[in-house]
Amino acid sequence: MEQPMDRSCIVVTGASRGIGAAIACALLQQGRDVIGVSRSGAVPACAGLAPELAARCTAMQADVTRPQAMTDVCRELRERGWRIQGLVNNAGMHADAASDRMPLAQWHQLMDSNARSVVSACQAVYPHLVHAGGGVIVNIGSFFDKLGVKRNLAYCASKAAVGAITRVLAVEWASQGIRVIDVAPGYIVTDLNAKALAAGAPLRAYLEQRIPGKKPGTAADVAALVAALFTPAGAFLSGETIYLDGAQGIAH
Ligand code: NDP
Repeated sequence: MEQPMDRSCIVVTGASRGIGAAIACALLQQGRDVIGVSRSGAVPACAGLAPELAARCTAMQADVTRPQAMTDVCRELRERGWRIQGLVNNAGMHADAASDRMPLAQWHQLMDSNARSVVSACQAVYPHLVHAGGGVIVNIGSFFDKLGVKRNLAYCASKAAVGAITRVLAVEWASQGIRVIDVAPGYIVTDLNAKALAAGAPLRAYLEQRIPGKKPGTAADVAALVAALFTPAGAFLSGETIYLDGAQGIAH
């Protein structure tokens, strides 16, 4: 990694592809420096981004399920002269199983990668944000947090935990100038569900029936909202879960 000057950056987890990559690109588009973290350490592909803006992305390799991972990332950034001004906890995974037979390992895996990792990452950036005089943390939840989705016991619970984590930290850390927001997307076509969508008509038909606007969202839709939360538009917003699901979560 290159030795930067003393500059501010926003750390985005799960930035190699999907929603995280789109968030990284939207922040770069705003002229920010972005540290993209993922297991692969791949640089997000930002189509159409000016080369001088794209160059402001640094990719780092880390597995957020390792409790110390984000502490190590933050320490390395500090040593290299970066000031952390924000964090997007986006890395996560999905798995499903019938609830009566869900292996305990699946529960632990999803809670670990989708919820506990968020706590560890927030704890890791906290002293850096305090040092910077405040900052913004965006946690990517899911509209499944308020739904009873069959076969999604662990996933729904892990995303409901993200909402709770967001509320507690928003209240506890507000006096340090730290805002914490949960952005909860509906169906967004990414690697996470592309296979299921490609598998055939049933899921697509289901989505068309369930989403009032008859189409899933895009990673760019989520990214535009997340990027806006780092601007003055989000200045008084904290502790909330913002549903970005085309009204699917309230349709009946
Ligand atoms: P993808 O599977 O397309 O991408 C996941 C990203 O997270 C990749 O960059 C992956 O990179 C990274 N990642 C996964 N696990 C880890 C880990 N342990 N440590 C570090 N990086 C990790 O998923 P989406 O973009 O669809 O999802 C992103 C977030 O949005 C998730 O939290 C998901 O639950 C949430 N979400 C998604 C919805 C959807 O419909 N797609 C709907 C609602 C919420 P690599 O493999 O290189 O590590």
